[in-house]
Amino acid sequence: MLPQVKPSKKLIYLDHAATTPLNPRVKKAMEPFWTQQFGNPSSLYKIGRKGIEAIGNARRTIAQIISSRPEEIVFTAGGTESINLAIFGVARAYELSHKQKGHIVASAIEHHAVLHSLDALKAEGWKITLLNVDQEGFVKLDELKKSISKDTVLISIMYANNEIGTTEPITTISHWLKKENEKRSIKKLTPIYFHTDACQAVGSLDLNVQKLGVDLMTINGSKTYGPKQTGLLYIKTGTKIRPLIYGGGQEKNMRSGTENVPGIVGLAEALRLADKDKQIENKRLIALRDYFITQLFKRIPNITLNGPAVPDKKLSFKHSSEVISRLPNNINISILSIDGEALLLYLDSYNIAVSTGSACSTTNPDPSHVILALGRSTEHADAAMRFTLGKSTTKQDINYVLKVLPGIVAELRRINTPMSY
Ligand SMILES: *Cc1c(COP(=O)(O)O)cnc(C)c1O
Repeated sequence: MLPQVKPSKKLIYLDHAATTPLNPRVKKAMEPFWTQQFGNPSSLYKIGRKGIEAIGNARRTIAQIISSRPEEIVFTAGGTESINLAIFGVARAYELSHKQKGHIVASAIEHHAVLHSLDALKAEGWKITLLNVDQEGFVKLDELKKSISKDTVLISIMYANNEIGTTEPITTISHWLKKENEKRSIKKLTPIYFHTDACQAVGSLDLNVQKLGVDLMTINGSKTYGPKQTGLLYIKTGTKIRPLIYGGGQEKNMRSGTENVPGIVGLAEALRLADKDKQIENKRLIALRDYFITQLFKRIPNITLNGPAVPDKKLSFKHSSEVISRLPNNINISILSIDGEALLLYLDSYNIAVSTGSACSTTNPDPSHVILALGRSTEHADAAMRFTLGKSTTKQDINYVLKVLPGIVAELRRINTPMSY
């Protein structure tokens, strides 16, 4: 029998890694730019100038948050586009100057925006290396060191994983790479660029590109209470990169097309608010996360945690100042011997929204490549459930989930057990 508990009146949304609601303050900042200050930023009259002014302010706000120069920021239509620009943009520039295809290294647990871009380059003749991760999802630096060759052009390692919350040792990698590139320059080899997909890191991790030591960094708005289809690529001055979208020459020729002024304004406001609340919100979410995980293990037998152990270990990443090994809002567990989709739908009937394995499950029924990369079985990957907390999540919400979830799991396991005759 299912738990005799009334469905929650409040939507208990535990899928913040998939997307977040727009913060009302962000909406307010965006509003004037649809109906009043709607001018094309390329126009010279007043309301056009208002647009270009707003974009300039947004760029400066974000530059301050990520410690870059304003002109190193290119606005795009989201994380996927920024990643495509980083990967194909660097690849095209290399092909043009070297008259040959090169080699790119990434981790096996990257977002599909990275992996499928690399598939496309592979089909064109590029060499691609996907690095194994350890059982908690961390990239192994010695494997990375071994993977590079004289024609390596780019390393792309995500800052934080969207499924299991692992935060990769970006600063450790960039410290090594800096020395490696010095050696390469003596040997007259082209430098290796370092791109990080920071879509999941916004709001909890340090986005300072100087400290991170990256050449390219992808950020989007939709995971951080900003508008969907907004994002940016940080491109360090001097990086050899070609545009993907040609036209009117906006964004200093790196991304043509009339600018999404409300989107850009919204992205900047979302990043500003996320940055401001980061410390306090991290603390709150880490406490909630660890409480939730502990209680799940007390109340449901036969489950495993996917991703880094909690509480966060102080890892031996030499160059990181503040180390969070798992995203504060991420819980990913495999609940064996149940149908994950059935569980998701039962939880939905109680007004709880979660996701199975990867968020893109309606378009991709394959078992999660991330869980498999941890060395887990297909059964484990199929049984993975992701709960990602956010601003609206309270301890009462978690207690409500804890009240209904064990009962649903028990019931699903009961009906899943083959009858004996
Ligand atoms: C969501 C996400 C993306 C894609 O971003 P969009 O804005 O949806 O295009 C890329 N990488 C990671 C890690 C993500 O979580």
